[in-house]
Amino acid sequence: PLDVEALGRSSWNLLHTISANYPDKPSNQQQSEMRQFLQLFSHIYPCSWCASDFEKYLKDHSPKLGSRDEFGRWMCEAHNEVNSKLNKETFDCNFWQKRWKDGWND
Ligand code: FAD
Repeated sequence: PLDVEALGRSSWNLLHTISANYPDKPSNQQQSEMRQFLQLFSHIYPCSWCASDFEKYLKDHSPKLGSRDEFGRWMCEAHNEVNSKLNKETFDCNFWQKRWKDGWND
């Protein structure tokens, strides 16, 4: 059976790590590829109700892809939306780079 929690933890790890390695000054092509990736991700994510909520989030909150910090914050806010839905604590997005780029341990 699908472990929605383990899948979620590893997926957020992947998504935040992708944003932490996104360019500071992305080209138009890099922005367009990331937009497509997020769209496709929201279609193929193996937890179907998670996927459809994420797809709706993408529709209502267009990904901010102009720089690494913009994208990292957007991803943090997307994650906070799910945290709120699940009654989990939200994360202070001013610390997203500390958590996912410069590193402190979980
Ligand atoms: P996680 O939420 O997995 O977080 C992992 C770590 O990320 C945390 O320990 C913390 O250090 C850090 N973190 C927390 N919040 C943020 C933030 N805002 N920004 C940056 N870092 C942060 N589960 C459901 O039950 N229903 C759903 O509808 C659902 N939708 C999901 C949609 C997506 C796109 C994804 C990737 C996951 C979804 N999940 C859903 C899974 C859920 O979000 C959690 O991953 C899962 O419940 C495990 O939670 P956790 O408490 O271990 O920490």
